[in-house]
Amino acid sequence: MLHPVQAHIISIGTELTAGLTVDTNAAWLAKRLAAVGFVVDRHVTVSDNQPAISDVIISAAAHADIVLITGGLGPTADDLTREALAGAAERPLVLHRPSFDQLSAYFQKIERAMPDTNRRQAYMPEGADVIDNARGTAPGIRLQIGSTTVFALPGVPSEMRAMFRETVEPELRGRSAGSVIVTGTLRCFGMGEARLGEMIEDLMTPGCGPLVGVTAADAIISVHVTARGANSLEASAAADDTLAVLRDRLGSLIFAEKNETLQQAVATLLIERKNTVATAESCTGGLLAKKLTDVPGSSAYFLGGFVTYADEAKTSQLGISPEAIAQHGAVSEEVAALLAEACRSRLNADFGLATTGIAGPTGGSAEKPVGLVYIAVATKTETVTRRLLTNAELGRDVIRQRSCNAILNLLRRHLISDVSQRV
Ligand code: AMP
Ligand code: MG
Repeated sequence: MLHPVQAHIISIGTELTAGLTVDTNAAWLAKRLAAVGFVVDRHVTVSDNQPAISDVIISAAAHADIVLITGGLGPTADDLTREALAGAAERPLVLHRPSFDQLSAYFQKIERAMPDTNRRQAYMPEGADVIDNARGTAPGIRLQIGSTTVFALPGVPSEMRAMFRETVEPELRGRSAGSVIVTGTLRCFGMGEARLGEMIEDLMTPGCGPLVGVTAADAIISVHVTARGANSLEASAAADDTLAVLRDRLGSLIFAEKNETLQQAVATLLIERKNTVATAESCTGGLLAKKLTDVPGSSAYFLGGFVTYADEAKTSQLGISPEAIAQHGAVSEEVAALLAEACRSRLNADFGLATTGIAGPTGGSAEKPVGLVYIAVATKTETVTRRLLTNAELGRDVIRQRSCNAILNLLRRHLISDVSQRV
């Protein structure tokens, strides 16, 4: 068993801790580090506070083999990474002549006088290596603290990424030689996260081969596999074995591998079968049509959609009888079915898809609460309906997203069972 090389990521900036800027650097770095064989087991975000930054650097250097810092290398008074790093390493800050000359040359080139504040960017902890920044003024820093290598990169994402790719990554590839990580993802729909987790619980125990983890968003469950090996062939083989077991267990719950969306998976099936769809939407207000047409080439299968929000529109545009609406209510299995059948036949599509429900936050009742949505898929010969109940607390957007995902999945199930019947 190879000893995984542990990495920590430190993101610095009060805009991050205050929630004004989303920390995209840490996510980007974590993925790149995993790809070159490092295990990232800690992300720390810290405000522009010098003692606090020193603290997290000292702690990271005590636990990790490598530490990646982003942010706080700029010229302004709140950019304190240099000082904090020097403090953590117990080294003085010294002027780095080549960086100073480079900064001067940069300001000469743009025909501006160098502000005094920029001088600070040429100071480095004693003994540090300077990492060139071809895209901005802040040079990066590489510093050894004990057995830990610390890299400090700029916060501006484009500068940070370029510096990582050009300087840090090549060095790290050498360091992690003999250890490669390969990941795979299976995207599932149609079962709650907890129940799906139970089906694969034995594979999720840490230490038993590749790591299996589960994430959920809008009722889409992603199962991630992370495998390690001495080379990419070995790591891929380990990942493939686990993915094969998962495919077997999860079966048709899986709609895609990697990052494919439900609508992309449905589009592929519709195009394969040369099938067309039409939509009639009430509570999703056109979101379903939007999702279906998000996929390039959607004109091959999407004929058109009706957004029939008011009862009168259901009647005038799709001929739903006012009596049916009065008898069952606009939010009902019966009206969902009628809407699906009507849009299908009006546009002469193979499938008609309909949604009707209460997205909230108001308009619910004891009998028909917020979050209740009926969906229907109609073909020439049959209509299938489903009743969905989403927790109202999750809010209008989630209710609408989930309704669309549920109907896309219902259509997908329809398409795959037809395919298997043909075989
Ligand atoms: P700094 O190097 O700390 O002066 O950061 C410069 C700018 O880069 C900030 O104002 C942010 O807009 C952006 N930035 C800094 N850190 C991050 C991060 N972790 N993720 C995304 N953007 C960031
Ligand atoms: Mg900053």
